[in-house]
Amino acid sequence: MKNLIDPQNTIQFLREHGISAKKRFGQNFLIDKRVLERIIEGAKITKDDLVLEIGPGIGTLTQALCEAAGRVVAVEIDKDMIPILEENLSYYDNYEIINDDVLRVDLKRLIEERDPSGRRIKVAANLPYYITTPIIMQLLESRMPISSITVMVQKEVADRMQAAPGTSDYGALSLAVQYYAEAVINSKVPPNCFIPRPGVDSAVITLNCYEESPVDVKDDRYMFRLIKAAFAQRRKTLVNALKNDPGLKLTREKVEAAIDELGLDINIRGERLSLEQFARLSDILGAG
Ligand code: SAM
Repeated sequence: MKNLIDPQNTIQFLREHGISAKKRFGQNFLIDKRVLERIIEGAKITKDDLVLEIGPGIGTLTQALCEAAGRVVAVEIDKDMIPILEENLSYYDNYEIINDDVLRVDLKRLIEERDPSGRRIKVAANLPYYITTPIIMQLLESRMPISSITVMVQKEVADRMQAAPGTSDYGALSLAVQYYAEAVINSKVPPNCFIPRPGVDSAVITLNCYEESPVDVKDDRYMFRLIKAAFAQRRKTLVNALKNDPGLKLTREKVEAAIDELGLDINIRGERLSLEQFARLSDILGAG
């Protein structure tokens, strides 16, 4: 029989099964059905989709994904969750649980093995907040075929993903998101939609990934090395931040000449540059 967990009953479910949320794994379980629906709607999942879920927990979102998608692959680090997941998903035959740390899994290979056709997959998750940025960066930089990423994140991280140059939220994450995807915040989610309640507001954000980035750059890996160096020392001028980075091996003269060629002020900070300007800078500095 289908045994759907109503998120409203999650507290009772956790109590009955003697589960206490593990802080070290960023466990904040969803207890609001409307939020669950917003993730599913935001992700626009159909029966044609292979969906990757990160951190299924007790399987509340996973069940909804199994209903909506063709197939679900979920990666969960907490081994104590595995028997609970198997029990809660026993009605379904279109899922697979992988007990591992998502940051240690070769996701590109995992997906290629599940669907060698190269069809683009969707990612949906209520992410563990302590590693949101590394997970998003891993997904974006993995070069695996992804059509969209719909995730619950801290509101502050969602704002960083959408930030414009010159604002305090703007950084390497904003630029990576802009390069690979178009970001849409679907809804703001208050702490009382989770158990235990996180200390911050959350948001559901969808990143609609480009098949090809609208920004043209000769070597995007080099561009992101420049971006990381620029924001590692964001209070310094761009010239100082780049020349101080030992891996880049750039001289002051070379960086100043490149900034001048772009028609920018020599004392400009990296946080003022748009993605397009970082791309041009990368083409000039990476040319040898
Ligand atoms: N999906 C469930 C829900 O919405 O109620 C749980 C979400 S909870 C915010 C985050 C989940 O990610 C937890 O189940 C946690 O154990 C799992 N998790 C934490 N770190 C992880 C990692 N490195 N790899 C895979 N899963 C992880």
